[in-house]
Amino acid sequence: MSTISAYVTTEMDYQVIVVGGGPTGLATANLLGRYGIRTLLLERNLTTVQEPRAVSIDDESLRTIQAFGAIDTVLRRVVAGYGSEYFTPTGKMFLKVGPTAAPYGYPRRNAFRQPILEAQLREHLDSFPVVKTLFGWRLESLSQDEAGVTLELRGPEDERCRAHSAYVVAADGASSSIRASLGLRLDGETFTEKWLIVDLEDSPAPTQETLVFCDVRRPCIALPGPNGTRRFEFKLVPGDDPSKMTDSDVVQTLLQTHGAAPQSRICRKTVYTFHARLASRWSRGRVFLAGDACHLTPPFAGQGMNSGIRDAHNLAWKLAWVARGSLPPVVLETYEEERRDHARDMINLALRMGRIMGPRHRLSGFTTQSLFRLLGRFPAIRDYFAQMKYKPKPRFRSGLLLTDGRTQRSTSVGRLIPQPMVNTRTGERCLDDVLGDDFALLGFLDDISVFERSTSHPVFSSIAARRILVSEDLFEARYAGDVDIITDRTSSLVHGLDCAKGRIFAIRPDRYVLGAFTPTTADKFAERLATLIAWNPAAQLIGVRGEPALHSG
Ligand SMILES: Cc1cc2nc3c(=O)[nH]c(=O)nc-3n(C[C@H](O)[C@H](O)[C@H](O)COP(=O)(O)OP(=O)(O)OC[C@H]3O[C@@H](n4cnc5c(N)ncnc54)[C@H](O)[C@@H]3O)c2cc1C
Repeated sequence: MSTISAYVTTEMDYQVIVVGGGPTGLATANLLGRYGIRTLLLERNLTTVQEPRAVSIDDESLRTIQAFGAIDTVLRRVVAGYGSEYFTPTGKMFLKVGPTAAPYGYPRRNAFRQPILEAQLREHLDSFPVVKTLFGWRLESLSQDEAGVTLELRGPEDERCRAHSAYVVAADGASSSIRASLGLRLDGETFTEKWLIVDLEDSPAPTQETLVFCDVRRPCIALPGPNGTRRFEFKLVPGDDPSKMTDSDVVQTLLQTHGAAPQSRICRKTVYTFHARLASRWSRGRVFLAGDACHLTPPFAGQGMNSGIRDAHNLAWKLAWVARGSLPPVVLETYEEERRDHARDMINLALRMGRIMGPRHRLSGFTTQSLFRLLGRFPAIRDYFAQMKYKPKPRFRSGLLLTDGRTQRSTSVGRLIPQPMVNTRTGERCLDDVLGDDFALLGFLDDISVFERSTSHPVFSSIAARRILVSEDLFEARYAGDVDIITDRTSSLVHGLDCAKGRIFAIRPDRYVLGAFTPTTADKFAERLATLIAWNPAAQLIGVRGEPALHSG
């Protein structure tokens, strides 16, 4: 990454410009950098965020961070794997959430701090010479035509500059000026209820779990974080004056009633109003909304930022492949098609969880809590909540997919594939590190030459699909071809993919299953793929970072 001097007056040209240096914009720019796309990241503030915001990051977001190579850095400041305990007003635990499974390679709930993550992601952009950043620069206006998008920018000392790009990602947050300039609405509701948020340092917690006090008199959530930090969230109740809630005596009294350690140091306190909203459309022409710019969710499910990072992964790889000419622009229409329903499902989950955490009436709180205690006697139901099976699955109903005639419930097409540790000829690795940055063909066949033949159609080479065979035997020195061979001792892949044995799965760069076929249906599948991606056999084969495709078929 290089930083443009604050006095640049020349015009600048990029393949993609990302407006907004929050988690969505930073993740998008990192992914585009990883894919070798000339990118400009624009942020009006001089630094990344300093305020209290997200504290819970999920397994899917960590997997995306792994995709652009920042996972080791990020995990250093994350408390991986923690649960939640929900209490009645009399202090009885009525619900326990404590997921133990890690199907995508990471624990499902992890504690972190948004200001730390943003600083890490900004620094990681230094690894990508194709990404330039302008912090302290604001987007003034934007116009587009068939050739591209033109942005007028204003610098920290009132300098002006113009930038052009083929596409723009509007990751400019809840009050997105880009969304407004495109004439797109943000439909939904804003809650009248407010919450006081207090972030503490030097505040050891009695347990690693989140404690949720579901007391109608004063709902409160206490979340331990990395390095002795702790977050308290208190719901404002009738009679509270929002302007007085951050007064020291009020905050101290609230903290004491909920067991904050006396030596704790308050580093941030503020009152928030939450929203549940979805943009009427997520794009216009060459401009795509992402993150809070197109969906707002109350934080009760800890999913606002996580949804934005899902947008980033879905959009960034499509933009990269389209910008390189490897996929037709029409593919970009599948971004909203794939992401909208899932984002809505997350908002609905947060609304349901909010009603459990902060009951509006004593009777409704008592009824809900009693019901959970009763249901908790059944192991299957207890497990459903403990393992977070209520969380919407990473799965698309339609989009850039080749369906295989199976029912939506049973098919693996459109689902995020599991990520186990696998054995390769060079040692144990995470599956995604073997899959690489491009498409991949993951086969579960007994005969490697059948796998080679079934994946030899040139359309697979045109999308630079890496070929990987899941086998019981690594063939060690006996095989010298270009197929990667792995073994999966956990059997997670066979169990996580529908009818895996004898089939080959086409995996997209964002690790979702594009389609599946058998050796006998390979030609038909290749033809359907060619139509889906408007394949031009005369086009040059281009993989990630402009490298030649991995095999020529
Ligand atoms: C109290 C609280 C707790 C939360 N807890 C969680 C949680 O546990 N887990 C979770 O997943 N989410 C949580 N969230 C939500 C999460 O913080 C947001 O969803 C996330 O910050 C959205 O990221 P974003 O990048 O889309 O937008 P933002 O973070 O808002 O970033 C947008 C950026 O765009 C910049 N910008 C705007 N206009 C311009 C312009 N014209 N030119 C240049 N730059 C511009 C802004 O300065 C800003 O930096 C929480 C939120 C709050 C308030």
